[in-house]
Amino acid sequence: MNKITNHLPTAELQALDAAHHMHPFTANAFLAEKGARVITRATGVTLTDSEGEQILDAMAGLWCVNIGYGRDELADVAYRQMKELPYYNTFFMSTHVPAIALADKVAELAPGNLNHVFFASGGSEANDTNIRLVRTYWQNLGKPSKQIIIGRNNAYHGSTLGATSLGGMKGMQAQGGLLPGFAHIGQPHWYLEGGDMSPEEFGLMRARELEAKIAELGEENVAAFIAEPVQGAGGVIVPPDSYWPEIQRICDAHDILLIVDEVITGFGRTGEWFGTQYYGLRPDIITIAKGLSSGYAPIGGSVVSDHVAEVLGREEFAHGYTYSGHPVAAAVALENLRILEDEKIVDHVKNEAAPYLAEKWHQLGDHPFVGETKIVGMMASLALTADKSVRKPFESPAGTVGYMVREKCFANNLIMRHVGDRMIVAPPLVMTKADIDLLFERAVKSLDEGYAAVK
Ligand code: PLP
Repeated sequence: MNKITNHLPTAELQALDAAHHMHPFTANAFLAEKGARVITRATGVTLTDSEGEQILDAMAGLWCVNIGYGRDELADVAYRQMKELPYYNTFFMSTHVPAIALADKVAELAPGNLNHVFFASGGSEANDTNIRLVRTYWQNLGKPSKQIIIGRNNAYHGSTLGATSLGGMKGMQAQGGLLPGFAHIGQPHWYLEGGDMSPEEFGLMRARELEAKIAELGEENVAAFIAEPVQGAGGVIVPPDSYWPEIQRICDAHDILLIVDEVITGFGRTGEWFGTQYYGLRPDIITIAKGLSSGYAPIGGSVVSDHVAEVLGREEFAHGYTYSGHPVAAAVALENLRILEDEKIVDHVKNEAAPYLAEKWHQLGDHPFVGETKIVGMMASLALTADKSVRKPFESPAGTVGYMVREKCFANNLIMRHVGDRMIVAPPLVMTKADIDLLFERAVKSLDEGYAAVK
């Protein structure tokens, strides 16, 4: 019988964890020194840890628990589905009702002609699918040289080797490599890289790097461009308004596919169902995961336009995962989408939660420690600065102050993440005004404490 339960003392759980469990994005040797926090349960927007602390989760786990924690409906659906059909695959001309129903629902919700879903277990796998998918598309069209995919510096598309290569996280690429066949352009991060340009000039300049890169590589060698509507893990970098229309123009003018990675922005986070709608884009493919199931089950996918699906379908696409369209994950995702729709959660974001969060978030911009505040829907960032009048970075290595403030937040029972010296939030979409007030109160306290510590 399993003897490791919630009833063990925290220190014992931490020691066992450090001994045997390798954590993602963690210096694992450090776990033995400073034990990981042990989360034992969660409801709504609140986590409980093994010490009984109640923590406000302003990151919705990893940007995924859109409907909030503790929804019994999803547990009930998972239980029923496991009893009825716990597993069957969708290879070799087989299918099952949960995969049919979920693909049908996603096609209904997704904008434009994005009507075909290739399922994966999460966002990284879905983006790996996209690499093979767009290259195969061009091969099927008799243009096999079109293989290079252009991404952006400081973009995050996942952790598989393919997704790491699509993304632009230099630290990740330094560990284990960057595959050939990928190119990158600059990010639309005005605060850090905009210099004396206006945000709008800078946005245009960065978008036009795509056109220059296509010319440099040769249009006949480029398969696709991939980007997140708002860079999430890069620090909630909201592009200037000039950026996306110019990117769309360039994609239209050249014969390359546009892949919009909606892993974070999908399923209501921007106040629209998809970030694609928020920015008025016409992608050929979008990547989905996270909010598709609100994190209750691991599932993601590539949603593909009619035209791309038709070309791809001319031959067998020799690609798939054991868990593509997993029946339990699909049934859970479908129930999650029912809740998002029936409870009008996307409208709640657009008309209530996001405007209120924006009002509070921009108030944080008055703090002497804060250089800029940015927000789209329920994802927001602020830049910590040594001197807000000149966007001055700290003298300590980038991320030192951000990490310190994150620790202050945690001590104040608030989960906020830091990316370098930028603080970010992406709360569950169901946050009420009272939850947002609590978030604000704890954020101000943490910023005050952090500011006092560096002064
Ligand atoms: N794409 C984006 C934009 C993401 O933010 C993430 C994860 O944070 C991924 C892809 C990878 O998704 P997963 O962790 O489910 O593999």
